[in-house]
Amino acid sequence: MMKHNFSAGPCILPKEVLAKAAEAVVDLNGTGLSLVEISHRSKDFVSIMEQARSLALELLGLEGQGYQALFLQGGASLEFLMVAYNLLDKKAGYLNTGTWSDKAIKEAKMFGEIVEVGSSKDENFNYIPKGYAVPDGLDYLHLTSNNTIFGTQIKKIPKTDAPLVCDMSSDIFSRQLDFSQFDLLYAGAQKNMGPAGTTLVVIKESILGKVSRQIPSMLDYKVHLGKDSMFNTPSVFAVYTSMLTMQWLKDMGGIAAVEEVNERKSQLLYSEIDLNPVFEGYAKKEDRSHMNATFNLTEAGLKETFDNLLQEAGINGLNGHRSVGGYRASMYNALSLESVGVLVDVMSEMERKG
Ligand SMILES: *Cc1c(COP(=O)(O)O)cnc(C)c1O
Repeated sequence: MMKHNFSAGPCILPKEVLAKAAEAVVDLNGTGLSLVEISHRSKDFVSIMEQARSLALELLGLEGQGYQALFLQGGASLEFLMVAYNLLDKKAGYLNTGTWSDKAIKEAKMFGEIVEVGSSKDENFNYIPKGYAVPDGLDYLHLTSNNTIFGTQIKKIPKTDAPLVCDMSSDIFSRQLDFSQFDLLYAGAQKNMGPAGTTLVVIKESILGKVSRQIPSMLDYKVHLGKDSMFNTPSVFAVYTSMLTMQWLKDMGGIAAVEEVNERKSQLLYSEIDLNPVFEGYAKKEDRSHMNATFNLTEAGLKETFDNLLQEAGINGLNGHRSVGGYRASMYNALSLESVGVLVDVMSEMERKG
């Protein structure tokens, strides 16, 4: 039976990417050796890393502008710490839009003063704060572009003189933005790019070197940059598979092309949520995420019926995060419009039953 994978992360990847990655685990490029058993210093892998790094910059439109891409380990969670280690001298600003921002703030507090420029904690993060003031003299302002758990997304990136840092774990490569407004962005691979195990970090090199503290080698962006993202053994499988996904995205027309599909998917689902009396959305309409749609049943008693129908339709991964409850449909790049159609059909059937 065909499966429709709405999992929030790790999550769906393009079928052809998975097939190619599986092949490389047995035999990489006809070498007779596995991707995971060759030296990361071999010509084959060095070329994979180079392609991955340059594809990331190419897709984001950041080539030749002083940016470099790294594929590190430790997930986005380690970046919460590394960003502050490398960039926070005295004071940084954070927009608190959910669990992940909260965790980023917690780590950064170990390195300096943190100003929460805005927060939507008062309504369990169902909206994006607006109209907040950003104080002068910040070492950087940190944003979370898409709030995976709560289903909100920043539509308008705030203008600021401070260097802009962004956690893009769950919407990287999903929509067009002027990425040159960011000085550092990072994304754990497992939401929209590849398997868990690597994190894309894109850095404008000129923002580094401004803190006086000593930085342990593994946590120092400069060390990783100086070694072309190969300071230690990279997560070879995750980097290779991420490279294949970026290649897949480039072949389909890049971010502009996938954004169009993503908009059609989210429109289809949100219009069903809004028109169908059996369901109600969680996030405020103007802040809704195109990647993660959060919603609830209006009558809790219908849960068993809905869950059974989902299962019969081959729909996977629709349970909401425990801090929100209800349902969450994650519609990352590799999820097809057809899969969203199958979900919407099940939701319409609920209306007929309900
Ligand atoms: C999943 C997620 C994280 C955590 O990523 P890890 O790679 O597990 O550390 C951080 N930020 C956002 C926005 C996420 O969606």
